[in-house]
Amino acid sequence: MKCVENEHPEALFEFGFRQYFNYMVVDQGLKRLERATALQNTEATYIVSLIYIYTGEEEKGVKLLENTINSIGSAGIVQCRRKLRDMEKSNWMRNNFVVDYMPQPHLFCKQKLQHEKNLSAWAGLYDENAENTISCLTCKCVREINVFYTIVKGLLIRHV
Ligand SMILES: [Zn+2]
Repeated sequence: MKCVENEHPEALFEFGFRQYFNYMVVDQGLKRLERATALQNTEATYIVSLIYIYTGEEEKGVKLLENTINSIGSAGIVQCRRKLRDMEKSNWMRNNFVVDYMPQPHLFCKQKLQHEKNLSAWAGLYDENAENTISCLTCKCVREINVFYTIVKGLLIRHV
């Protein structure tokens, strides 16, 4: 706990994550994740934006997610997905119904088919080159919203 007290961003992120998703101390967990976000921890920022989106603060969450995608690019996003998947695998997500509390997010892109036309149907979620074929920021956000749901619910095929 020393690292958490000393506000080491990575430690704050991991502890906050466990509080939120595993111990279900959601208020404190979110606070720690937000603190890690303020300290520029990328994975925390990614998770916090998606928590906002799934808990009724969609506008705020989408804004944060857009900024994150712009600053870390496809490689960074793929990295965040991996981290989320690894946390889910380590059984840290008892609170997987967090994505079911609220109505589903509203964000969508009318030109999705056009914007994702170069995305291979076989591309895995951890392929940054595949992600690079999408340039529409809205489509990118919608993808993360769906990826988050899939991973949090444990619906992802494990080997991809
Ligand atoms: Zn689009």
